[in-house]
Amino acid sequence: MIRRRVSVLGSTGSVGCSTLDLMDQAEAAGTGAFQVEVLTGGANVARLAEQARRWKPRLVVIADPARLPDLRDALVGTDIETASGDAAVVEAATRPVDWVMAAIVGAAGLRSTWAAAATGATLALANKESLVCCGPRLIERVRSSGGRLIPVDSEHSAIFQVFPAEAPERVARLILTASGGPFRQTSLVDMARMTPEQAVAHPNWSMGAKISIDSATMANKGLETIEAAYLFDMTADRIDVVVHPESIIHSMVEYVDGSTLAQMGPPDMKTPIACALAWPNRLAWPAPRLDLAALGRLTFEAPDETRFPALKLAREALSAGGTAPTVFNAANEVGAYAFLDRKLGFLNIAVVVAETLERTTCEGMTSATDDACDAALAVDAEARRIARAIIERRAMAA
Ligand code: NAD
Ligand code: MG
Repeated sequence: MIRRRVSVLGSTGSVGCSTLDLMDQAEAAGTGAFQVEVLTGGANVARLAEQARRWKPRLVVIADPARLPDLRDALVGTDIETASGDAAVVEAATRPVDWVMAAIVGAAGLRSTWAAAATGATLALANKESLVCCGPRLIERVRSSGGRLIPVDSEHSAIFQVFPAEAPERVARLILTASGGPFRQTSLVDMARMTPEQAVAHPNWSMGAKISIDSATMANKGLETIEAAYLFDMTADRIDVVVHPESIIHSMVEYVDGSTLAQMGPPDMKTPIACALAWPNRLAWPAPRLDLAALGRLTFEAPDETRFPALKLAREALSAGGTAPTVFNAANEVGAYAFLDRKLGFLNIAVVVAETLERTTCEGMTSATDDACDAALAVDAEARRIARAIIERRAMAA
């Protein structure tokens, strides 16, 4: 039986809902018992209130202050504390628990992830952007608080499960698998015309809008390359990406003797979440199972950096170091949302990222503060300003 007192930051999103569903299924199966301390959501009051009525957390926070009255109405008759605003989300993340799921999307999740990292809790990290922006300082912060960081991103969960943490010198390289996204076989000419609806229609995974766009541009695999470098202390030249359209092998570790260990499973985020929830134990839940005979075969191909330049840009940002990964993340986020808002063509997301990185002298963007989170947010804000200006100029020129 896995027993945990948990907080879920970003509970109304794709990963957040999967986390609560998984806990529900484990409780129904009699293999888990969970007490929820905190749930936070961005703007979806109905879903947050429904989750709160099911889990009876001590505190529920809605990031958007305008929606607090609706949340209070929806929770009338309960004794659940409610709050709103960014500061309340961060405060909620500091509440003592055994396990925190950091599942807010984008740089908006930085402060709360950073706050949770100092509590000594196990930090289940879905919010890859906070690791990309704060870098190894986030890992150090978790460690020095007596907590443990467990990656939830399926690729990093896979590597975490087969990586020899006690003897990293045994590893030659990491191999991240990528589905290739919805445009794996689409020509550049056709990619230029793709709409947000086409881009969010991922072939294997059901995810939030932003990460779906990142999968379509392969910026997601770029962010994941940076994430893997920090988590497993690897340089860019020891992290390879292979496209594997079936999304069955979630990533691999190649050892120095030529042996390669892979982790496999159906493409369902509940499996890496279950791993993070129970580690070092295993949570029994009614998981979907692999049927390899039915699958028949697994296929692989090299990524195409001409059609997916974001991958190369991320690798260059990782090698450049300093604030370049934070700038990459910020520009990519601005570009992805501009595309979702139909203000930018699909291929121009990577163009905006490249131009923002070019315009940003990374030393010029260091911040006076010692706090890695404040420093990352200062760089993030400046990079966003530059990226938005590039998009506006392009719109005026068009
Ligand atoms: P999502 O968009 O479905 O959900 C995001 C959550 O964050 C929601 O609860 C939303 O309300 C909340 N949120 C958004 N903006 C906020 C703000 N400004 N302040 C506070 N809360 C805010 O996203 P998702 O797909 O669940 O992804 C969450 C994170 O997990 C991302 O970092 C993503 O890269 C990572 N991830 C997701 C998947 C997946 O399968 N969805 C897989 C691997 C990693
Ligand atoms: Mg992933």
